[in-house]
Amino acid sequence: MSNYRIETKCVQGGYTPGNGEPRQIPIIQSTTFKYNTSEDMGKLFDLEASGYFYSRLQNPTCDTVAAKICELEGGTAAMLLSSGQAASFYSIFNIASCGDHVVSSASIYGGTYNLFAVTMKRMGIEFTFVDPDCTDEELEAAFRPNTKAVFGETIANPALTVFDIERFANAAHAHGVPLIVDNTFATPVNCRPFEWGADIVTHSTTKYMDGHGSAVGGCIVDSGKFDWTKYPDKFPGLCTPDDSYHGVTYTERFGLGGAYITKATAQLMRDFGSVQSPQSAFLLNLGLESLHVRMARHCENAQRVAEFLEAHEKVAWVNYPGLSSNKYYDRAQKYLPNGSCGVVSFGVSGGREAAEKVMKLLKVTAIETHVADARSCCLHPASATHRQMNEQELIAAGVPGDLIRLSCGLEAADDLIDDLKQALDQI
Ligand SMILES: *Cc1c(COP(=O)(O)O)cnc(C)c1O
Repeated sequence: MSNYRIETKCVQGGYTPGNGEPRQIPIIQSTTFKYNTSEDMGKLFDLEASGYFYSRLQNPTCDTVAAKICELEGGTAAMLLSSGQAASFYSIFNIASCGDHVVSSASIYGGTYNLFAVTMKRMGIEFTFVDPDCTDEELEAAFRPNTKAVFGETIANPALTVFDIERFANAAHAHGVPLIVDNTFATPVNCRPFEWGADIVTHSTTKYMDGHGSAVGGCIVDSGKFDWTKYPDKFPGLCTPDDSYHGVTYTERFGLGGAYITKATAQLMRDFGSVQSPQSAFLLNLGLESLHVRMARHCENAQRVAEFLEAHEKVAWVNYPGLSSNKYYDRAQKYLPNGSCGVVSFGVSGGREAAEKVMKLLKVTAIETHVADARSCCLHPASATHRQMNEQELIAAGVPGDLIRLSCGLEAADDLIDDLKQALDQI
């Protein structure tokens, strides 16, 4: 598949049926797998043979869909997880443990911020949050000798900050650590972070990849490009023997292309068990088959809605990377030349109260804690996803109190605009 264009990979990637085999991917709804001898099974437990034995670690349906996402991102290995949160957690915990440190963009999804700043801090991993538009000196000052990774979001949810992937990749590499990029909002259709130097990509597949609000899920993809063996002291988990697998050294046995994902599966999935169900993976694959068609339409609708809002007298400000007035327009042209995403944020004149009123008056667009669905939806992050943040943290995360996050679905753009118009007319 690797020579085909991204549209073809969306439709057919990850699965090539043999003669007489099912055209659609089979759902292997089985927790366990049968073997003829204990010896056969022992080899699997020692990671000497590849195969399936228990769906808490790996399942063929999930692996088929992970292989498709791997092709879409241009990676060497990938795994599905139960959620985007699990993907974010595993992506860091696979290479950082108690006493380590991570540099993260401050402009990230609220759930990720909480995971990093509160929960992972309790595990002894410290995060330094930097403004994604900080100076080189500020970025440099964020690194410590125990820094193990840099993290950012291609297009931040909900701030819509466009992350300067190349710049952060260079900074990470200068310090001998990988750049991990959450590519949920852009999807590989609109941006492939590996092409700009990122080393690991994570996804909440719950969003555009699924695209129909039907299954929560996550994914991690490895580019295979980061050379862990150059820094064995920094990444002992990948470069020294794992006693829980009879002394296997992941980089030696699985190479740079496979070490990171194999370790995350063999250790973290084994111990935490954040698996995606084969049924969910099947639904995710249905979404992926039309991802390239849907993304174009989401972006087209969002562009039209953003332009309408920008021209409306009752709208105080509009944030959409596709508007030429946007702070990130030039950066979006570089990283996202075919469009960014379907999410637009804006503030209504009259602040927080007016925002809540407009949301209540919308008919086509529903109030939901969700984005990236075929159906349009909206949310007031300051009172929902980001409610754990104080005013200063909200501003640092690019989420002021009056912000409405509007996720443009696949409906007719004119209906979305008419709906907004009638609501705005009533305030
Ligand atoms: C939703 C989201 C997550 C978390 O994903 P879940 O599937 O809800 O766990 C992580 N990152 C981004 C950018 C998101 O939008």
